[in-house]
Amino acid sequence: MAKEEKLNFGADVSRLLDIVAHALYSNRDVFLRELISNASDACDKLRYEAIAKPELIQDNADFNIRVFKDTTDRTLNIIDNGIGMNHDELVENLGTIAKSGTAALMEKIDGAAGTDKVSLIGQFGVGFYASFMVADKVTVISRKAGEDKTWLWESDGKTGFTVREAKGKESKILPGTRGTAVMLHINNDASDYLIDDKLKHVISTYSDHINFPIYLGEPDGNEEDEQPVNAVTALWMRPKEEITAEQHKEFFQHIGFGVDEPLMTAHWRVEGKMEYTSLLYVPTMRPMDLYDPSRRHSVRLYVKRVFITDDCEGLIYPWLRFLRGVVDSEDLPLNISREMLQHNPMIDKIRSGIAKRVLGDLNKMAENEPDKFGAFWGQFGAVLKEGLYDAFEHRDALLKAARFYSTHEDGALTSLSDYASRMKDGQETIYYLSGEKLDTLKNSPQLEGFKARGIEVLFFTDTIDDFWLQTVLDYDGKPFQSVTKGNIDLDRFEKEKSEEKQGDKDETQDSNLEALKKIIADTLEEEVGEVRFSKRLTDSPVCLIAGDNEVDLRMERVLRINQQYDSGAKRVLEINPGHALIKRLAQLTEGAAADTELSDAAWLLLDQARIIQGEPIPDPSGFARRMSRFMERGLAA
Ligand code: ADP
Ligand code: MG
Repeated sequence: MAKEEKLNFGADVSRLLDIVAHALYSNRDVFLRELISNASDACDKLRYEAIAKPELIQDNADFNIRVFKDTTDRTLNIIDNGIGMNHDELVENLGTIAKSGTAALMEKIDGAAGTDKVSLIGQFGVGFYASFMVADKVTVISRKAGEDKTWLWESDGKTGFTVREAKGKESKILPGTRGTAVMLHINNDASDYLIDDKLKHVISTYSDHINFPIYLGEPDGNEEDEQPVNAVTALWMRPKEEITAEQHKEFFQHIGFGVDEPLMTAHWRVEGKMEYTSLLYVPTMRPMDLYDPSRRHSVRLYVKRVFITDDCEGLIYPWLRFLRGVVDSEDLPLNISREMLQHNPMIDKIRSGIAKRVLGDLNKMAENEPDKFGAFWGQFGAVLKEGLYDAFEHRDALLKAARFYSTHEDGALTSLSDYASRMKDGQETIYYLSGEKLDTLKNSPQLEGFKARGIEVLFFTDTIDDFWLQTVLDYDGKPFQSVTKGNIDLDRFEKEKSEEKQGDKDETQDSNLEALKKIIADTLEEEVGEVRFSKRLTDSPVCLIAGDNEVDLRMERVLRINQQYDSGAKRVLEINPGHALIKRLAQLTEGAAADTELSDAAWLLLDQARIIQGEPIPDPSGFARRMSRFMERGLAA
């Protein structure tokens, strides 16, 4: 007989088990959901492999899951005739955390506080290790389909586990020549899981949607005269009206991780030239790895109820990667290789159909349940907007769904059509201001003239905004225009009453101001392309603007940081002729000895504009020197 190997858990597993042991789930029942879910996955995997290798299931093609208790030795057994695991797979799958989701979770968990830990884990689920919430020892006996050795894995869930070949009698627990038996040695606090009524209740609550029959009772029961505890029909094939919210929730948790709930459910069947059924969910919470570049969508592809893959690349647009659920095609060939799927025109059509339907439903939600839609947008809006630059066909629906903060109402999101309805007479463009932080944007000097005239400006705060703006030039024929770029003639619009008294005479005729403008332009010749009188400023003395033909200020910053691209374009410095400081400086141009004073002022104004913009100043010590000189003079006067 082969000897026993003693191995330690991977470091992550030890930590995870520690957390599991200490008040993880308020609801312990979920361990059974996790184990049945694994058994169902194992059957799915083998059913798929058997399409190419039918000999794998020759002796028994009826997949099933059996759950039975043994009150004499206090074990609860969950047995499947799925794909099984060999020695190395037992060590790898049950001894380390291979799953990327759980690995990512473990990374986050270190930083999180106590209660957050629980909610983090809830979001991911802990799978197999949930067993140790109810068992003080777990034995797994498994034989991989097509192989001839049966293995026994065992652990008390503390430091490590053992693996050895199963002895004669032990392997009898498996039905036939393949599959996995998970034997839980139920601890004293969990004796209720040795009662059939309790088990029946838990299975029908959490696992009703499982596609394979789940039998409860005798270990060697004869399936023919037995009734499964679950309904067995695939959930997505059942009539829409017959599926309860609770069932959707359980199914969603089965295919995703943990305890989140679906925010939106889309269940529909396409018939005609192409036939498929989709059952898709928008989660309530954003998964931790939504922005991880390696993250794929989590929609499973089935062909006629047979699970094919959960990694079909072209099935879902990357900007809908938060969707979870199932697509079941009637037309794709069952023996299609996973590689062939990627370039299959049928998959392209399904992808497009899904996008159309989901966007349609989201836009309906926006209309009928604006608060719920707002919650959705907060979680997934930035991802959805990625579609604006790569999915021309869905652009209108995406623009309709898009929401932005704006100067109209603090803290409220607005749609583009609502913006358009508030546009002023003669306003042809949609004004926006783009930057990282909403709070900084709200106080930007570039907005002053717009606010004074009651012209609404949208705030674009996601990096993705600067990218889609390169391809989406307008909404409903109205071009997007950055307020930090080019010459915007705001004088066409009247100022609102309270502002009227100031600024109605044109100060720019003043010859001192002209002289000041020239001095500033000469001093800053190397730094700015042009100095001009501003129409956008009311309260601030200066601001920076991108030239008419340049990219907008933020885009330039994004390009410089991300692509090491420097356009070399010079900015425009706008000065506010109505501002007291500018007026005073203009007077100084008459005096003879004001040269250093005015050149100091020019540099200080430029640096000030940079600071407000959230940009570093290139020469901080020069800035400090000038600032001191200026303060000194001010105090001496
Ligand atoms: P997950 O199911 O999310 O991958 P689990 O912790 O539940 O994570 O399971 C870890 C891995 O162990 C599974 O991915 C699978 O490879 C393997 N496994 C667990 N249970 C079974 C089973 N009954 N049959 C075959 N493999 C299994
Ligand atoms: Mg699992």
